[in-house]
Amino acid sequence: MSRVYLSPPDVGDAERALLVEAFDSGWIAPLGPQLDAFESELAARVGVPHALAVSSGTAALHLALLLVGVGPGDDVLVPTFTFVATANVVRYLGARPVFVDCDTSSWQLDPDLVSAELDARAEEGTLPAAVVSVDLYGQSADYDRLTATCEGYGVPLVEDAAEALGATYRGRAAGSFGVAGVFSFNGNKIITTSAGGALLARSEELVARARHLATQAREPEVHYEHLDLGFNYRMSNLLAALGLAQLRALDRRIARRRRINERYRQALSGRPGISFMPRADYGVPNDWLTCIEIEPGAFGATRDQIRSALDTHDIEARPTWKPLHLQPLYAGAPLIGGTAAEAIFERGLCLPSGSSLSDDDQDRVVEHILRCSR
Ligand SMILES: *Cc1c(COP(=O)(O)O)cnc(C)c1O
Repeated sequence: MSRVYLSPPDVGDAERALLVEAFDSGWIAPLGPQLDAFESELAARVGVPHALAVSSGTAALHLALLLVGVGPGDDVLVPTFTFVATANVVRYLGARPVFVDCDTSSWQLDPDLVSAELDARAEEGTLPAAVVSVDLYGQSADYDRLTATCEGYGVPLVEDAAEALGATYRGRAAGSFGVAGVFSFNGNKIITTSAGGALLARSEELVARARHLATQAREPEVHYEHLDLGFNYRMSNLLAALGLAQLRALDRRIARRRRINERYRQALSGRPGISFMPRADYGVPNDWLTCIEIEPGAFGATRDQIRSALDTHDIEARPTWKPLHLQPLYAGAPLIGGTAAEAIFERGLCLPSGSSLSDDDQDRVVEHILRCSR
């Protein structure tokens, strides 16, 4: 039996065909027609007019924050319950992340805390340069409330939808909220370009500016003229070909992950000591990862015991993200709110959820989890 991974790339003949077609067409040097098609199909899918494909989700976040005006000495509100890249880009710009706790009813950025913090900072005249929301584990944050709060104070909202392509909030696609939205196509995400990301925005000017900066900020002169500090952040045409094939089967991938989530619920919910990441009634997640919480007293084993038992049987499961305010990298950074993210981190476990996971392998995961309670 081969190892069961958390969320491995799910690629096949369609990806191979488009990749070889791009190769054979000679569009190897970075830009090309597959890249243009990937950007326009992605924009259409998300319902946002402009998209830029880049080398990673982190690069897209970096550009997004730079272009909404984050700079040295600024504060930026960032959820503490997320992957480290969300906060690192704040530091790349010489700004300071101010962490905000999550809401236990959705695991997403707590809009009450954001609102109270902006109220207090508006009084003091210390509004942050931006707020970053994250659509964690493929479920969107509460955008009616977050956008109203941010717009009320004129603070730009950036949506880190790296994990949430295909999810919706009140019928609207994740990645379409905020001044800019960001996706990741890293190998473990719902679709992959092996490595890649994208920035989307309603502002044509913002995306044009991002495109310029992502291409070494080359002015249109034959002799390589530069006014701005640029980056080498563009996605290659070959990887965009992979992305096109992946994107065209996004709905099938979401349906498969949803089915996996339902099967876990059928097998595990109702067992004492196991609960699932709550589904907020305001939207439809893409079920990127199925996450559970273990109450050791009731279940009869700890999260770590379950994780290592699974590992012994060649099954990869992972604790939920370690809150960033607990990371040594961010020691001393301010935290707004309480211990909701911390409590989830102590008991949360992400289960194998890839769209290529077979029913048999999933049954094996369930069996080994349940064995831990005996
Ligand atoms: C994966 C991820 C990123 C970073 O994307 P990369 O493509 O790996 O750079 C950023 N934020 C969140 C929430 C992520 O899950």
